[in-house]
Amino acid sequence: MAVDFTSDPAVADLARRTADLVREVVIPVEERCGGVAHTEETRVELQRAAKDAGVFAPHVGRDLGGHGLDMRGRAVVFEEAGYSLLGPLALNIAAPDEGNMHLLEVVATAEQKERYLRPLAAGEVRSCFAMTEPAPGAGSDPSALTTRATKVPGGWRLDGRKWFITGADGASFAICMARTSGEPGDGGGATMFLVDAANPGMKVLRHIETLDESLYGGHIELLFENCVVGDDAVLGEVDEGFKYAQVRLGPARITHCMRWLGLARRAQDIALDRAAEREVFGSRLAELGMVQQMIADNEIDIAAARGLILRACWELDRGERAGQSTSVAKTFSAEAVWRVVDRSLQICGSLGVSGDILLGRFLREVRPFRIYDGPSETHRWSVARRAVRQRSRSAR
Ligand SMILES: Cc1cc2nc3c(=O)[nH]c(=O)nc-3n(C[C@H](O)[C@H](O)[C@H](O)COP(=O)(O)OP(=O)(O)OC[C@H]3O[C@@H](n4cnc5c(N)ncnc54)[C@H](O)[C@@H]3O)c2cc1C
Repeated sequence: MAVDFTSDPAVADLARRTADLVREVVIPVEERCGGVAHTEETRVELQRAAKDAGVFAPHVGRDLGGHGLDMRGRAVVFEEAGYSLLGPLALNIAAPDEGNMHLLEVVATAEQKERYLRPLAAGEVRSCFAMTEPAPGAGSDPSALTTRATKVPGGWRLDGRKWFITGADGASFAICMARTSGEPGDGGGATMFLVDAANPGMKVLRHIETLDESLYGGHIELLFENCVVGDDAVLGEVDEGFKYAQVRLGPARITHCMRWLGLARRAQDIALDRAAEREVFGSRLAELGMVQQMIADNEIDIAAARGLILRACWELDRGERAGQSTSVAKTFSAEAVWRVVDRSLQICGSLGVSGDILLGRFLREVRPFRIYDGPSETHRWSVARRAVRQRSRSAR
């Protein structure tokens, strides 16, 4: 079946204005802070610039001040934003807020949208998504979920421990996944809850030290202890949490690919500039065959990742579940982006590993993407099982 990759002129214009903003405003800030900016002052300054440029929150609906981009539109604009580590923060399309906005737009009640989605879309508050737990709890296998939600009069009491919850410190609310029925290992029985940061039952235990440092608010270990919320805190239906997780995670893993693809392009541009000027053994690096091979392999990885992302977007825009294409695109992109940044750093030699340029930082930032939003091995396992099932159905 043919796939239409053409982008609307309005989307192309938004992408161009995003690229201008990133080049003129965002990259100078990124270079000053080494790609790691965790102050409200910087977040507000960058978001004000994006609002002034008319590119803020392009993914949410027009009623929320956005441009209502579909997934193919997001692919083009998010890639431009991802050209800088701070571009997604500027546009309010960084993880986990962007995925949470998508989930709230699809699942939340009108009251929940007013209370949580509207201020989030405006950049007035931040949020987090709390699913993963320390072993033996939920990780690549979400059904291992141990955090419990017990019914109490007028609401629910949550008890459990979560970790690697990006942006939880300073977030004004969490979307917490807890078990309302069944036992760890069961495929159902999860529910999503909206928990205000002011709730005394939700506590930040620690910032986990990690290889990556740029995602705003860090990665947090959270404790839910005697955390009582009202019935109106349930997001969607009770026991349907795993279904809603797919609403969030399918598109969210693809938007992550779009942003990191932008960073891969930036790494390649840095390497191309260096290869054009640096001379060794009487030639410029760009004229040496083995460097040309790395440059060409970068181009191939970037183009292939973009193609797979657009195919997944096209299926999602058609309302399909797109399980196979999102897994294929996520696995390939996460690994391709890592290869591109690694080769770019190699081309730059010692300069590449120095703090004088940002390639070392980029390498640290992209590595965890092979683990979150489903490790490569989990996706390959799913891709293979679907392929086997499909073949056995078609061979019958
Ligand atoms: C930087 C970062 C940010 C994160 N942010 C969030 C967040 O905001 N909210 C949140 O809820 N979670 C978050 N996570 C958690 C992330 O979703 C989990 O790390 C991921 O789901 C994997 O779970 P795990 O770490 O428990 O690994 P495990 O489940 O222990 O898996 C370990 C390894 O087992 C292998 N494996 C897994 N499945 C298979 C299989 N089927 N076949 C073969 N091998 C397999 C893989 O190599 C995998 O890496 C984040 C993680 C990181 C690193």
